[in-house]
Amino acid sequence: MGAPQFSPVTPEFITRLQSLVGEANVSTRQADIDLHAHDESHWPAHPAEVVAWARNAQQVAEVLRLANEARVPVTPWGAGTSLEGNSIPLQGGLVLSLEQMNEIVKVHADDFQVTVQPGLGYKDLNEKLRRYGLFFPPDPGANASIGGMLANNAAGSRTVKYGATKDNVLRIQVALADGRLIEAGCRSVKQSSGYDLLHLFVGSEGTLGVITEATLKLWPIAEFSSAAIATFDDTESAVETVVAVRGSGLEPAALEYIGRDNVRLMNTIEGLYFGENIALLMELSAAHQQTLLDGLATLEEICKEMGATSFRGTTDTAERKAIWEARHGSLEILRRHNPDTRFMSVDVSVPISAYPELVLHIEGVLQEFGGIPGYLVGHAGDGNMHMGLSYRDDASYEVARKINERVVHKAIELDGTSTGEHGVGYGKRKYMQREHGESLDVMRTIKQTLDPNGILNPGKVLPDAE
Ligand SMILES: Cc1cc2nc3c(=O)[nH]c(=O)nc-3n(C[C@H](O)[C@H](O)[C@H](O)COP(=O)(O)OP(=O)(O)OC[C@H]3O[C@@H](n4cnc5c(N)ncnc54)[C@H](O)[C@@H]3O)c2cc1C
Repeated sequence: MGAPQFSPVTPEFITRLQSLVGEANVSTRQADIDLHAHDESHWPAHPAEVVAWARNAQQVAEVLRLANEARVPVTPWGAGTSLEGNSIPLQGGLVLSLEQMNEIVKVHADDFQVTVQPGLGYKDLNEKLRRYGLFFPPDPGANASIGGMLANNAAGSRTVKYGATKDNVLRIQVALADGRLIEAGCRSVKQSSGYDLLHLFVGSEGTLGVITEATLKLWPIAEFSSAAIATFDDTESAVETVVAVRGSGLEPAALEYIGRDNVRLMNTIEGLYFGENIALLMELSAAHQQTLLDGLATLEEICKEMGATSFRGTTDTAERKAIWEARHGSLEILRRHNPDTRFMSVDVSVPISAYPELVLHIEGVLQEFGGIPGYLVGHAGDGNMHMGLSYRDDASYEVARKINERVVHKAIELDGTSTGEHGVGYGKRKYMQREHGESLDVMRTIKQTLDPNGILNPGKVLPDAE
C-alpha cells in the first residue's frame, strides 16, 4: 500500500461542497482554519484548506463521496479536545465538523438507552438526562463530543465501574468513504450476529468512517455517593492499596492515583486538602445510605491497613463536587500554574497487578533524568496512568520525549498498551509495530478495504508503510 495521493481543494470543490451543506456551512476564513488546526495536545498545528459543518447523516455521506472522488483528505472533528494529535488535519484538505449535529434523537428510558447525534457533548447529554434519573458514565475531563469519544474510545475516572466508551455503545450509524451509510450493532444488549463492526469503528479515530448517530447505554444515577481521599507517604503503599481495593469487592465508582506534584497543585484550591505526598481519590455509590456508610468504613479499614497516613470520606454533595472538579481540572490547573511551559501528555495502561511495577518504573525514570516533576495522575482502578511532562525548549522536549518512550515501552512489556484512552492519533503511531506485530498488517488491510484512497484522517493510527 503506497502513500495516498491527494488533490488540493479547488474552487470547484468548494462550490460543490456548498451545494451539499449550504454556503453558510463552508468556511475558508482564517479564524475557522486556525481553530480547527490543532487539538489540545503538544503536537504542532496544521491547517486544513476548508472547514465544513454537516447538519445530518446524509450530508456527511455525500460530502465523503465528493471528497473521495476528488481525492481530498477529510479529518472529522468533534470538539477538538484530543491529546495525541488525533484531530489535526495533517494533510490539509477538509475538516468536517460534526458540531452542529448535536441533538438527542430519542431517549429510550425504559431500555436505559439514548440515541444521539455525534456532535452532542457528553456533559450536555448528562445534563439533559438528569430528569430521567439516568446518565452516560464515560467521562473524559474535557467537554468532548460523543462522536469524538466513540472515535477515540475515550474513558475516564468511572471506567473502573462502568467501562470505557466501547462498553457503553450498542449501535452506530456510519458514513463510509465511498458515501455509503451503514449501521453496525443494534439496540439489543446481547448481540451475537456477524462480525463485530460496531467495535471496529469505535476507536478507529475517524480513519475508517464518520459516525453519524449512536445508541448509547445509560445507567441509573446512584441515590447516594461519597468521595474519599486517602493519603500515603510512599508509592508502594499507595499503589498496592489500589490492588487491595479492587480485590475487596467494594466496586468503587472511581479509584484515582494522584502523585506528589499534583497533590501540591490541587492543595492550592481553596478549601481542598489532598495531603502532603501521594493521594488516592475514590468514589463509592449505593442505593441506600447505610450501604454507602458501611462501604466507606470498609474502605477506610483497607486503606489504613495498607499504610494510609490519613483517610477522609465525605457524603457532602458540594464537597464531593469540588473534589472531582479539581481532579478533572488537573491539566488546566497545571497549565495555569506554569504559563510559560508546555506539557506532553503521557497515557499508558497495564493489567492492574502490574500497576505497582509501572508506577515504580516511572518514578525511577524521572529520577534518572534529574528528578524532574512528572505530575502523575492516573485512573489507577483500571491500570491507567497519565503524566504531564513539562518542556520549554528543544533540550527539555527531548528529555520529555525520551521519558515518554521509556514509559510506553515498559507498559507494552508489562502486557499493557501504549495508550489506555487518548488513542494513537499522530503521536503513538511509532509504537504500533511494537505493540501489535503482525496484527498491524491486518489493520492495514481493513483500512485499504474501507478507505482505498486513504482520504479519512490520513497520517493517524497506522504508521507509514516502510
Ligand atoms: C483537560 C483534558 C482532559 C482529558 N481527559 C481525558 C480522559 O480522562 N479520558 C479520555 O479518554 N480522554 C481525555 N481527554 C482527551 C479527549 O477529551 C478525548 O480523546 C475525547 O474523546 C475527544 O473528543 P472530541 O469530541 O474532542 O474529539 P476530537 O478531538 O474532535 O476528535 C477525536 C478523534 O475522533 C475523530 N472524530 C471526531 N468525531 C468523529 C465522528 N463523528 N466520527 C468519526 N470520527 C470522529 C477525529 O478525527 C479524531 O481522530 C482529555 C482532554 C483534555 C483537554
